[in-house]
Order: sequence, then structure tokens, then C-alpha cells
Amino acid sequence: MLPPSPAGRFAPSPSGDLHIGNLRTAVLAWLFAHATGRGFAIRMEDLDRVRPGSDVRQLRDLAALGLSWDEPVVYQSQRLEEYRAVVDELVAAGRTFECYCTRREILEAPSAPHAPQGAYPGTCRDLSEAQRAQRRSERPAAIRLRAEVSSFTVHDLLYGEFTGDVDDFVLVRNDGTPAYNLAVVVDDAATGVDQVVRGDDLLSSAPRQAFLATLLGHRPPEYAHVPMVLNRSGARLAKRNGAVTLTDLAGHGVDAASALSMMAESLGLAAAGEPVTLSVLAERFDPSTLVRTPWVFVPPE
Ligand code: GLU
Repeated sequence: MLPPSPAGRFAPSPSGDLHIGNLRTAVLAWLFAHATGRGFAIRMEDLDRVRPGSDVRQLRDLAALGLSWDEPVVYQSQRLEEYRAVVDELVAAGRTFECYCTRREILEAPSAPHAPQGAYPGTCRDLSEAQRAQRRSERPAAIRLRAEVSSFTVHDLLYGEFTGDVDDFVLVRNDGTPAYNLAVVVDDAATGVDQVVRGDDLLSSAPRQAFLATLLGHRPPEYAHVPMVLNRSGARLAKRNGAVTLTDLAGHGVDAASALSMMAESLGLAAAGEPVTLSVLAERFDPSTLVRTPWVFVPPE
């Protein structure tokens, strides 16, 4: 089988409607992919926090802005066997260990000297078989990666070389659900995604993901962690901040085309109120001059 052609992607969690911050990130991901001759994939990260019907509404809103994507849309819930196979491989290679810690035990454990702040303290890393059998009878186990490094460097189109912490992060949660960091890496590699454009709140996850990709024999993707959209108080925009989804905005007379114009203006790609389409934006888009500051969105009242 031929390897999938290179692609960028947008990977929403279908937990509700996308707000204008999520939509702006999707537009940027599409523009980056388009500007670099890549395909564009959408992946529904539906392993948890799913609100039924959100996927369809999210796709509808993305299409209303003019985005197009390669079919089929990938649903993580349909790829459990793939994640399992990768975990089995890592287990067989001795790169994992079972962890029985509660969140509280992790917080309360003394951290290992020189370990990055907030890193897994190593409690279950080197237990004896007898200790494991005992702990296993008390709580179901999560599976953690035996990282053997404490940091990793990624290349980001906006941040340059970025070095961040890598610890023994969770691959499979103790309810059997594949963890976000595992699924992202397995999916990006399997679907030919070699460009990851997403909000810069996820920059600190990139070193873990790129490290895991490398361990699995994949070349890490090129990253672009883009500025977030904030509310008036400077916090990350959220749905409770008012009219922030396309449906809310439509109720205030702002249609999808006007919402796209607002996003374009915030990116320095259009004048205030100028009607634009995604293909016009694609002509104007230059990744090297992308705005580096967050956009403060004030919803209509
Ligand atoms: N599903 C994640 C989110 O909606 C994004 C994951 C990613 O882009 O790697 O925040």
C-alpha cells in the first residue's frame, strides 16, 4: 500500500459546538496545509467528553466557513485496535510499566531530584512482581511509558526550536481508554499527517508526542502552535463568554461569512468588515508574517 500523502489536520473533540477560537485555529490549519501543498484531514477526538451530534455540527460549521477536507473523517473511537497494537508493541519491548497511582498519590509523592516540575514521580516504575500483584488487586492499572529521557526538542514554525519536558506519561488510562498523547501520535503517523497546527496551549505536549513518535519509528510532524483567542479578561475564550459559536453569532446577525471576515481581520489578512473567502485568504496567507499575539474576542451583545 502507498503511504498516505502528506497532510495537515484539525482534530477537534466533539464535546460541543466549536467557538470562534477553535474555528480560527481550524482556518489557520487549513491555510498552512494549503500554503504548503498538503492535503487536509479532520479527526474527531471522540475517546471521551463526547456530546452526541457535536461531530456533525462541527463539520457543518467548518464547511460553512469554506473548509474542505479529505474524506473520510477519522473517528478515534473506531481505531481502538490500532492503539492496542501499538501499546502491545511497546509493552513487549519493555518500554512501559503498569501504574496504580491515584491522582492524589502522584501529587503528594515527593518528586524525584532534578525531575521536571509536575513530572510523574516514578512511584510504580520499579516495583517488584510481588508488589505489582498486590497493587493490581487494589486498583486497575494504567499503562505508562518508560520514557528514559526528561526532555525532547521539537521544531515549531512559530516558536523555533522548543525543548520541553518528557516524563513517564500515561499511554492507556486505568479504565482502558487510550490516552490523548498516544492516540494523537498513532493517528498522525497512520494518516500521513506531517504538519500539526493547533492552539499554543498544546505546545508543552509536543515534546512528549514527538518523542513517542520517534520511539515508534516515525518522523515527528512539523508543528505550528498558533496564538489563542482570549476573552475580555485575558483568559482563554470559552462558550460561557457569550455569543462565540456560529449558531450564537447568527442569532446576532453575524453569518458565517462575516465571522470569517472577523477572523481574517484578526489575522491581518483582511481590512475591517472586508468580505473574504478562504481562497482569497489562501492567496494572502504568509506563514512567516503570521500574527504572534492572541486575539481578544468581544462577543456581540
Ligand atoms: N482534540 C484536541 C483539542 O480539541 C486537539 C488535539 C491536537 O490538535 O493535537 O483540544
